[in-house]
Amino acid sequence: MKVLVTYRIPEVGLNALRERFEVDLNDGERLLSKEELLERVKDADGVVTMLADPVDREFIDAGKRLKIIANYAVGYNNIDVNYATEKGIYVTHTPGAMANAVAEITLALMLAVSRRIVEADKYVRAGKFKGWKPGLFLGPGLAGKTLGIIGFGRIGRAVAKRAKSFNMEILYYKRTRLPDDIEETLGVKFKPLEELLKESDFVTLHVPLTQETHHLLDERRLFMMKKGAFLINTSRGPVVDEKALVKALKEGHLGGAGLDVYEREPQVEPELLEMDNVVLLPHIGAASQDAMERMAVMVAECVIKALSGEKPDYLVPEQKRVFGE
Ligand code: NAD
Repeated sequence: MKVLVTYRIPEVGLNALRERFEVDLNDGERLLSKEELLERVKDADGVVTMLADPVDREFIDAGKRLKIIANYAVGYNNIDVNYATEKGIYVTHTPGAMANAVAEITLALMLAVSRRIVEADKYVRAGKFKGWKPGLFLGPGLAGKTLGIIGFGRIGRAVAKRAKSFNMEILYYKRTRLPDDIEETLGVKFKPLEELLKESDFVTLHVPLTQETHHLLDERRLFMMKKGAFLINTSRGPVVDEKALVKALKEGHLGGAGLDVYEREPQVEPELLEMDNVVLLPHIGAASQDAMERMAVMVAECVIKALSGEKPDYLVPEQKRVFGE
């Protein structure tokens, strides 16, 4: 059987696949184009896809032998899951594999924007540092501040745990509130979305991108945030209306933003590039070696199970409802 891997993943995953299948690996520097994907999926029994690969009806129809689409990511908004399910094709992702990595990058962005790390680094490199003086690159810091976490799953909780050790107050919002005893153990308080926005000094997003969460933070809600508050987005770009974010920053309503993802990725609103109070990363939330290796093992396990006639472990939630846990 043949497995298409649309971009290089760590050896540990590739080796597990190569032991059992013929592997058609895109070993190039760039992702495959739509045409290349359609051509190479034709005779594949399984495919390991990247977040930027459009796994739409056309792709699924082209992959006539496909039994599994294993997305090398926790998010899977690039895949037409309903259509794959209709065709009886498993869709898997890599839940949990990168929770620590994304939580770390979230805290890094919070620290970078509030303590002005990037600006200060540029200042030193430009030869402007002439000695210590009080008030140089003053920023609010994290201790004693309130952090509002929107989306409280694996990554949201990993962020809460870390933020607690920075002595932050933690508010969270998700669709269904956690039981009191769990809130107490985690030391977090539930708030409805708009209350959370009004009360937080930092707001961080950890929801998946769905129809419901598209522009969850639109202009109205961005301007509901506290004056001078910081917004961190390591979830998916379209969860925030990026033009409205530019407006809120330009008008001085928000104190700054830390972004790992963009609405029209890889394009970035040009005005953001000019702002010193914004820290911009190239979607590297999951880019820790450990996370990448864990993801590679998970996609390989899923492909191996599916192609051996078993149900893979990491089905996306919509398919768990259809195929069972
Ligand atoms: P998860 O499924 O464990 O948690 C998602 C949380 O969002 C849950 O609490 C869920 O109840 C909540 N939620 C879903 N829809 C909601 C809605 N409409 N309103 C309010 N809450 C809602 O997922 P996770 O592992 O924590 O990952 C979260 C997201 O982070 C992923 O979907 C992905 O898009 C993103 N992510 C980004 C990177 C990166 O490189 N920057 C890496 C991994 C994941």
